[in-house]
Amino acid sequence: MNDDYYDLLGVSREASTDEIKKAYRKLARTLHPDVNPDPEAQDKFKKVSQAYETLSNPDRRRQYDMGGGPGMGGFPGGASFDFSDIFDMFAGASGMRGRGQGPTPRQRRGGDVLRRTQVSLRDVVFGTEQEVSFRTAVGCDRCQGSCCEPGTSPKRCSNCSGSGHVQKVAQSLLGQMVTMAPCPVCGGHGDVIESPCTQCSGHGRVPSERTVTVRIPSGVEDGTRIQLRGEGEVGEADGPSGDLFVELSVTDHDVFVREGSDLVTRLSIPMTAAALGASIPLETFDGERVVEVEPGSQPGEEITLKGLGITPLRRATRGDIRVELDVKIPTRLDEEQRDLLEKLASVRDEEKPAATSGRRGHTMFGKLRDRLRER
Ligand SMILES: [Zn+2]
Ligand SMILES: [Zn+2]
Repeated sequence: MNDDYYDLLGVSREASTDEIKKAYRKLARTLHPDVNPDPEAQDKFKKVSQAYETLSNPDRRRQYDMGGGPGMGGFPGGASFDFSDIFDMFAGASGMRGRGQGPTPRQRRGGDVLRRTQVSLRDVVFGTEQEVSFRTAVGCDRCQGSCCEPGTSPKRCSNCSGSGHVQKVAQSLLGQMVTMAPCPVCGGHGDVIESPCTQCSGHGRVPSERTVTVRIPSGVEDGTRIQLRGEGEVGEADGPSGDLFVELSVTDHDVFVREGSDLVTRLSIPMTAAALGASIPLETFDGERVVEVEPGSQPGEEITLKGLGITPLRRATRGDIRVELDVKIPTRLDEEQRDLLEKLASVRDEEKPAATSGRRGHTMFGKLRDRLRER
């Protein structure tokens, strides 16, 4: 860091500002990072630039001459100073893709495809397979993705000699600077397709309808996305294919609602059945089963049918069916029924019942009712 600024620029201590500028331009053309990737050259370029910043400014130069050193005049040292006018000049080159590398390949990855499909609750329980159709791009069978008419091939670009980039001359305060830019004739590919395939217009792929069979495992949820790698759009010029995403929408079921791996339903039984007990048939996804209502069952009580629910994703055991009991109290009684009930009340000593109170929402039925309301 103690290099003498005049030595760095190769000028005498009496050099004019013009001479200093000229000397710096000359050095920058060989040392700038966009021209010379050598780390040693980059280091030297920093020092040279710092020397130029100081010596090209009369005030700073005077301070430097008086022994102020590089730390004076608002320079913290290193390369942190603003030098944008010079770097702007190189921006075209530094922002360029593939500088110093080969041509840009014509191949491009195909896009991903998102397709929505509906599945039933039964499909969720057992898993299923579905055919999904969608518009997409498929490989061109005329050119096999080469983009060229059969029997022809791409020609080396004469404008850039196949390199894919051309030299660009830019004017700057340092004079003419040479940078690299993508070749406008071949678009940076390095070769030119003179006879593009007539079926795909030289893209190597054509629009088409495609049908894919999707395996949908049991336990999927509403909104689950299934990814099928490489089943999306075919890439340009035989590039890699994108992915197909199938988003599932689970349709509502008339009888069952899913709760985790369980299937929940509500069974309405008459008051007498709750009191006396009953065997009630229930159509499940595994066929008809019998729900055994014990004598004396209460509203909101739950009866479990083991192992008839859903197998969650990546698990082996099925959930249950849970039957919540709803007890129907008769709203209209004829004379005979009223007599019978009054007789029953009398026998049970319930003619003048003492009410037992419970906070709303804390009884089992309250909880169930609240839950059903939320749906
Ligand atoms: Zn083609
Ligand atoms: Zn070219």
